[in-house]
Amino acid sequence: MKIVFATGNKGKLKEAREIFTGHEIISIKEFDPGFAPDETGETFFQNAVIKAEAAMKIVKNIAVLSDDSGLIVETLDGAPGVYSSRFGGVDGNDALNRKTLLKKLDEITERRACFSCTAVLLFPDMSAVVTNGKCYGKIGYNELGDNGFGYDPLFIPDGYDKTMAELSSDIKNSLSHRGNAFRKLMGKIILF
Ligand code: IMP
Repeated sequence: MKIVFATGNKGKLKEAREIFTGHEIISIKEFDPGFAPDETGETFFQNAVIKAEAAMKIVKNIAVLSDDSGLIVETLDGAPGVYSSRFGGVDGNDALNRKTLLKKLDEITERRACFSCTAVLLFPDMSAVVTNGKCYGKIGYNELGDNGFGYDPLFIPDGYDKTMAELSSDIKNSLSHRGNAFRKLMGKIILF
């Protein structure tokens, strides 16, 4: 099945292509290079729907995949949450976001966190499948590794003593919030 992914994030595209094997995943940027709907939702679900509906208006007859995800840090009352991509004040500046997180956690030893992802697959008849995935772990004290994106160099998943950015893509996909949400979607689209 041809699926347009409502993202321009190369890390997410790579992950989707690794998980949705047998399906053709195309970036919405190939249809609209300036695609960047305002993510005004207060939840991952609302933002994922905003992106899916905005992309469907552009592609019309092709199924659309969207996701919204972020990092939830317990001791920061759930921040950065839906503001994960602009935590440092500049949207999409991963290095600044990580620096901001480390600063906020300075001298804090309680560093439990989880990544959360809501994924939406929207069909041209506007029916949809929605799934959620989570990945639990903790925030490290230094950036380590260069695989992945976003907060990966700081996030140490449960059961590992390495950051997500030090793990292989295969391991990340098997553990990650998005991997979990996308695999649940895959299970549901098997019949299409
Ligand atoms: P979104 O593109 O609106 O879903 O923003 C997600 C933001 O959350 C990204 O910019 C990253 O900062 C963070 N994020 C989401 N998923 C991941 C991941 O798998 N690894 C690291 N950071 C992530």
